Amino acid sequence: MRSLCFFLLFVFQIAIYGQPTPQFVDEIQLEKLKPESLQYYWLRIIDNGMSQPVTIPVIVARGADPGPVLGMTAALHGNELNGISVIHQVMAELDLKSLHGTIIAIPGLNAISIPLHQRRYFDKEDLNRNFPGKEKGNRSQQYVWQIGQKILSKVDYLVDMHTASFGRENTFYVRSDLSDTTMAKMALLQNADIVLNNKGVPSANEQISATRTMRAEAVLKGIPTITIEYGNPQVFQPELISRGKTGIQNIMSWLGMNQDPIVTTQPAVICKKSYWLYIDQGGYLEVIADLNQKVKKNERIAILRNPFGDLVREYFCPEDGIVIGRSSNPVNMSGGRIIHLGILQNEDK
Ligand SMILES: [Zn+2]
Repeated sequence: MRSLCFFLLFVFQIAIYGQPTPQFVDEIQLEKLKPESLQYYWLRIIDNGMSQPVTIPVIVARGADPGPVLGMTAALHGNELNGISVIHQVMAELDLKSLHGTIIAIPGLNAISIPLHQRRYFDKEDLNRNFPGKEKGNRSQQYVWQIGQKILSKVDYLVDMHTASFGRENTFYVRSDLSDTTMAKMALLQNADIVLNNKGVPSANEQISATRTMRAEAVLKGIPTITIEYGNPQVFQPELISRGKTGIQNIMSWLGMNQDPIVTTQPAVICKKSYWLYIDQGGYLEVIADLNQKVKKNERIAILRNPFGDLVREYFCPEDGIVIGRSSNPVNMSGGRIIHLGILQNEDK
């Protein structure tokens, strides 16, 4: 009787989770995928010399008809989880029959750091400052090199998903080069709170830095790419995830990958630039300005107390703007962050 129950449970689980069995591969071979197919991969990235090679989870969906290849990557920083759930939800609602083109989704790019609740890679390097990496470089350089070879080389468009870092919180905002019509459109389709014009790559007359973000690397390769920041680290935030899913589906509609209508809910606040404000002495910081709050020049945005509770500093906004992100950790040393201030595009005098 007990074994029958287990058998029925097994059958029931297959019925619910009747998804592909992941294959271990060294390379994603899109040309070998049949139309209307969904495939899970454990893609080998590096060798750790012990048990298994280090792999990343990859979901590839090929539609019935030809079309572009849309890439989605989440958790290049291992503690930035909301994008993982956005990918899960987008893939769960995908209809292969009506899909034109291919989706390559990586719900967990920094696979080593995710179970460690860690932003940075194994060697404490920030992977998103280390592109393009080196084939025979150090540990993080080899890791991002492989991502460039095995992921970036496969996609026509890319959405890279992030959140705030530990000790901070973010709005739902997009970083994109708004001088490029494709990347501007991809950003505006998100229904985000804020779209921040951020080129991400040097201008023609500036030198290309030796190391850069994955977005910068992808754009240099000619791949229209945006970075989306979904709220806060190490959590799933259902409302932001749902909005994020709609934004990705909007990109798919706009690229002609499906026939669904584009859903527009709210116009984003457009910022032409942004910068962080920092405290100039240590203490307990209370940020008064809220996320998405429009702040005025000379408006009080934060106060700082010493360990005895005395008010020692007040911080005021240097110019009009909007709060894109803010510190959520009261404990701060000198140089700690207060707010990420966005300067509105239409504030030009
Ligand atoms: Zn990040």
